[in-house]
Amino acid sequence: MTTVLLASRNAKKLAELRRVVAAAGITGLDVVGLDDVPEYPEEPETGATFEENALIKARSGAAATGLACLADDSGISVDALNGMPGVLSARWSGRHGDDTANNDLLLAQIADVPAERRGGAFVSACALVLPTGSETVVRGEWRGTILPEPRGANGFGYDPLFVPDDEVAQGRSSAELSGAEKDALSHRGKALAQLVPALRELSQG
Ligand code: IMP
Repeated sequence: MTTVLLASRNAKKLAELRRVVAAAGITGLDVVGLDDVPEYPEEPETGATFEENALIKARSGAAATGLACLADDSGISVDALNGMPGVLSARWSGRHGDDTANNDLLLAQIADVPAERRGGAFVSACALVLPTGSETVVRGEWRGTILPEPRGANGFGYDPLFVPDDEVAQGRSSAELSGAEKDALSHRGKALAQLVPALRELSQG
């Protein structure tokens, strides 16, 4: 059994990675989170891009634990805000991880933007750093439209504000999709799918 550390305390991200690994038929990979390993000093996410931040997190997790480490950095990029909040999504309102305040501020900023210009995308970069020093970074994007007000109770973060362009979502916000439906369409689902070959190799190594 090979252990891979997901450098996150987000139980939903952990469950998502476990679902991806199971759906790919990968056995022999034990996915653990930051709460399962001894605490280590986490480096600040100072990168200008999702990719840089994912690599910062994965490198520091691999260095601190000696385990293979996967990290995701993600956010929402709104066209009418020139791609912001982007890498600042988690702290857009000034308080890290305050989803309600972040959503309220984003809605207020684009309150006068008409429906046809409310496009945006969820973006996820995932980095996998192995004890051998090998590094892989991938990116997934999920295009959609920002609603004028929140809708739906599933998911987290900006999910209640985002209606995916995919026809399969049938006009529902990403907070109105089930976990499995969201995985099949989402930015992180698309990024993680690209890491399946590397994870399979790791599980066999
Ligand atoms: P991270 O966890 O530091 O990468 O921050 C990601 C931030 O982007 C979170 O605070 C969320 O607000 C937002 N975000 C990323 N992925 C999603 C998603 O799938 N749904 C809703 N919000 C997301």
